[in-house]
Amino acid sequence: MRILVVGAGFAGAVYARTLAEAGHGVTVIDKRPHIGGNAYDFADTNGVRVHLYGPHLFHTKLQRVIDWLTRFGSFIPYEHKVRAILPNGKLAPMPINLDTVNAVFGTGYSTAAEVEAHLARVALKIAEPRNAAEHLQSRIGVELTDLFFRPYTKKMWGFDLEDMSPSVVKRIPLRTDRVDTYFASDETQMLPRDGYTALFASMFDHPGIELGLGTGFSRDMLKQYGFCFNAMPIDEYFGFQLGDLPYRSIRFHVRTEMDGAAWEAPVTNFTDSGPYTRETNWDALPRHRVEATGRRTITREEPCDYRDNGMERYYPVKTADGRYQALYEKYRALAEAEPDMEFIGRCGTYQYLDMDQVINQSLAGAERWLKQQ
Ligand SMILES: Cc1cc2nc3c(=O)[nH]c(=O)nc-3n(C[C@H](O)[C@H](O)[C@H](O)COP(=O)(O)OP(=O)(O)OC[C@H]3O[C@@H](n4cnc5c(N)ncnc54)[C@H](O)[C@@H]3O)c2cc1C
Repeated sequence: MRILVVGAGFAGAVYARTLAEAGHGVTVIDKRPHIGGNAYDFADTNGVRVHLYGPHLFHTKLQRVIDWLTRFGSFIPYEHKVRAILPNGKLAPMPINLDTVNAVFGTGYSTAAEVEAHLARVALKIAEPRNAAEHLQSRIGVELTDLFFRPYTKKMWGFDLEDMSPSVVKRIPLRTDRVDTYFASDETQMLPRDGYTALFASMFDHPGIELGLGTGFSRDMLKQYGFCFNAMPIDEYFGFQLGDLPYRSIRFHVRTEMDGAAWEAPVTNFTDSGPYTRETNWDALPRHRVEATGRRTITREEPCDYRDNGMERYYPVKTADGRYQALYEKYRALAEAEPDMEFIGRCGTYQYLDMDQVINQSLAGAERWLKQQ
């Protein structure tokens, strides 16, 4: 069967490759001029590999995803680290760990048990947290919540912690030992040796796959195909007839600096109430220095509404009352009645998904569809 895949990100790439290997002819289109979706990277004029849509760190517990992905390129182990700037200008590990607690409270704890006892003392007793503020306060108390999460959440989401669903902050780990790697709970943390774009080129390199970049979806394309897997925003496909599904976006402010002192970690978070959430020093990531130029590239992130950033959709908005998830369900019901089309990926299913989750869901989805044929 001739199949149309809309979107050349991870969802589209997994579907395209799996279906092509099963003998189908696949056309992949993307409105952007490049492959890779939001994981796209490139070497800039400073000789530094930059991820155009923000730093992408691969981490997973899923062996199946590792087995599939490593068919298309080699990877290097990399354990990501983040530091947060405290009001006194000092840096502390993020996610919160034993050293963060010592830096904030001036304590001298050396064991996880001491930190756990401290957090138990400052935590508020809230049996069933109704929102992100209550969830955090019930785990780490008011002071750490207000320092690390209150201004950050406001600038990241445009909402107060009280208006956000607990699920938004549940993703952020908390450690009581000295481990300072961001994704420590995932056994596999790695980066593609030659970048994500090279990995995607290899995934799309199959005689059954045809690529059309710089090509936006239009309904009249469907006539030429037996089925369509569609990663475009589901509300856009239906002409926003039930209302918009909102997203947060990010404006990336890129600057060049002369090489200088090494950074403690490639990413620094800002805890203040200014407009920026974090900045990335790309050449502090392994194999991101592609050519020696004496210059480095730093990207600062300023979250905003997607309508203020050329409709660039990054993070689906999850409020405590679940109103946008309810709206998405209505679009999903419309989609079920759509013949020969399945919505896939982040914007097709209106979920925040890490790369490994998108790969896993897409592998399962493609196999399910193949079995039904
Ligand atoms: C700032 C940021 C940082 C992230 N960091 C991490 C991280 O560290 N680790 C991690 O695991 N995950 C991270 N992610 C998540 C990761 O980006 C996603 O898991 C992944 O990109 C999802 O792949 P996708 O194919 O669903 O969507 P996308 O990558 O968004 O691909 C969808 C593609 O569809 C195309 N498209 C949309 N509409 C149309 C249309 N009408 N016609 C044609 N093409 C269209 C888009 O141009 C896009 O290229 C991050 C995401 C963001 C936003």
